[in-house]
Amino acid sequence: MRRTLIAGNWKMNGGFSANRSLLSEIKAGLPASLQCDVLVCPPAPYLAQAADLLGTTVVAWGGQDVSVHAQGAFTGEVSAAMLADCGCKYAIVGHSERRAYHGESSEQVAQKAVQLLKAGLIPVVCVGETLEQRESGQTNEVVAGQLNAVLDLLEVSAVAGIVVAYEPVWAIGTGKTATPQMAQDVHHFLRQQISLKSADMAEKVQILYGGSMKPENARELLAMPDIDGGLIGGAALKSQDFLAIVAAS
Ligand code: PEP
Repeated sequence: MRRTLIAGNWKMNGGFSANRSLLSEIKAGLPASLQCDVLVCPPAPYLAQAADLLGTTVVAWGGQDVSVHAQGAFTGEVSAAMLADCGCKYAIVGHSERRAYHGESSEQVAQKAVQLLKAGLIPVVCVGETLEQRESGQTNEVVAGQLNAVLDLLEVSAVAGIVVAYEPVWAIGTGKTATPQMAQDVHHFLRQQISLKSADMAEKVQILYGGSMKPENARELLAMPDIDGGLIGGAALKSQDFLAIVAAS
């Protein structure tokens, strides 16, 4: 049985004071018998703060990106080892904003995932199609290409060490959500793709949905058999919304 993971992607938002409030509200609002895993991904400068505030709690923290390089003269980059030093358990790779605004290719995303695995972190590998791609019937082809670029670099035994996040680009930050059945269809397809590598691993990999998930739609989405959690942007910045999504899981 796969555990549900509710992950917050804070993107480039926050500050010491706002983070302190948000994290203390989340900590205070979580149920004593938490049924799912909870993750927050603040911007890199605040990972040490997250470690300080969350160190003794059940809430994990993670990065929003990582370098393809292990170390060296790469100004502005953050390595997987640095994320591990900050106590991160996870890091997001291949978010559509990085693919679109920073020109990241699926091959680079795959190298990033490998760097994270080598450092003992769990990559949250984002895949998703644009509206144009969906409307021209390319959704499966696009997400398969993005996912398989990562799977191709992994030993079979490493596959269960990744998390996949299906995030239709047209649903991110737009208020438009894939219907539960639309999301389920793609999640099922992604699990089938993983099963081509290993049926056993395919059953273990958590596949999250992301794209305007909020308290009003979380329960229905999370009830689908292949949706194992959520990657949440906007609603992760409001403690009540984030906690309501955790409660819906
Ligand atoms: C995201 O950026 O990963 C995301 C899903 O954002 P939002 O929830 O705001 O659509």
